[in-house]
Amino acid sequence: MQVFTSVLVLLIVFTVFIITDIRGYKQRKIDSMLGLAQVLAANNVSTLQFMDNEAAHQILSELHDVAPDILHAAIIDSTGRTFAKYVKDTAVGMAIPKDLPNNGYVLEYGRLYVTSLIVADKKVLGKVMLEVELSELEKIKREKFELAGILLVIAIASSFLIALLIQPYISKRLLMLVNTMKDAGSTGDYSKPLVDEGKDEISTLVRVYNSLMVQVKESQRRKEEFIGIASHELKTPLTTIKGYIDLIDSMEDQQPKKQFVQKALENVQKLERLIKDLLDVSKMQSGQLELNVQEFDMGTLLEESIAGFRMVSGTHKITWNGDHSPGMIRADRQRIEQVMVNLLSNAIKYSPGEKEVLVNSSSDGEEMLIMVQDHGPGIPAEELPNIFDRFYRTKDTSIHISGFGLGLYICKDIIDRHHGKIWVESTKEGSAFYFSLPMKYDKSSLTNVKPV
Ligand code: ADP
Repeated sequence: MQVFTSVLVLLIVFTVFIITDIRGYKQRKIDSMLGLAQVLAANNVSTLQFMDNEAAHQILSELHDVAPDILHAAIIDSTGRTFAKYVKDTAVGMAIPKDLPNNGYVLEYGRLYVTSLIVADKKVLGKVMLEVELSELEKIKREKFELAGILLVIAIASSFLIALLIQPYISKRLLMLVNTMKDAGSTGDYSKPLVDEGKDEISTLVRVYNSLMVQVKESQRRKEEFIGIASHELKTPLTTIKGYIDLIDSMEDQQPKKQFVQKALENVQKLERLIKDLLDVSKMQSGQLELNVQEFDMGTLLEESIAGFRMVSGTHKITWNGDHSPGMIRADRQRIEQVMVNLLSNAIKYSPGEKEVLVNSSSDGEEMLIMVQDHGPGIPAEELPNIFDRFYRTKDTSIHISGFGLGLYICKDIIDRHHGKIWVESTKEGSAFYFSLPMKYDKSSLTNVKPV
């Protein structure tokens, strides 16, 4: 391809170059011969007036030295008779083109024919006629074509040589990339980064491949971590349930103890929550999570969620500050409650040993702002940007506090779908999760809306 393109470009350049050169030569020849014919016409005014045939011959014979290209030259008088003429020794008969004007030129039969009128006192006495051979033009053409041919051969040879030298270098790098891809595909080992020092498209491809492999590796790590967490999180409540049911089963003819049934039920609920979260995530990812939008009182929702936790939490006291009636809102009530429950349960779960969780609500008529704050150990600053990622759990807590790393991801998705914002501020003294919801928005702008 490279060779072909270079040859094509060179051919075009040479053609343009040769055509302009030949045109230039022709134009120069025409101009100079027209000038010469005019000079001859001026010099022959008196020879015609005085019928000095000898002088006319003398003038014309000088053309032999002045313009060797001229084959024939003739002075024609007003009656059309040849008054004087000059014939170059090598010349054969003069063929006069039919359309030759009285004052001008014609290019025909590879010759240039020029005429110029001999005028005195506005009276035409005759004309000068010249026949010029263009043999020099042929020579120029030949030379140019020869030169173009030589340059073309040199160009083809050198581009072929360059292509031959570069080809193995390019193929080697491409083959290396292909083989690494094949290896990664068959072994599942994405940890081998490719090294390429070049600065061309192949090195860009290598860089893209490397960064893609980093992402694949990270998602593989997350998947493996998730499988580990999931099996542990599902196994623990199942073992507990089995233990209590075995216990109840062993109590022959006795009424099962209420507290054992209660414990088994608690663990069933835990399993139910985990499975529900997993289902929500899968719905979100396939775009099937629907919002059942309705108008409801946010104050009541907060009150109910907080009351639910106050009833079951024996460790923490939930204090609710701010505006207890932030107003009505159009949203999916169940999903907003899910966000609230998640934030409250995290606040309790991740501040063991503390006694207080703080809720604050406010609104400015445009936006509602809810905060859930705890006094736990907080989240390290470098982990804050990932906290809402799917399956993300902070390094410290994930060891001793159970969880899937899905709650905050689901909360963010729900709030995003309501065109709201969710964020966290955290120090060593505790974390505060905020979410805000617009109070006025077009119902139809909510994503995946299912009308109630
Ligand atoms: P889960 O609690 O099931 O692990 P989440 O998505 O709710 O999943 O939370 C993700 C991670 O964020 C948790 O594993 C925990 O490390 C951190 N986190 C969430 N809430 C808090 C909080 N209130 N205080 C400290 N860390 C928190």
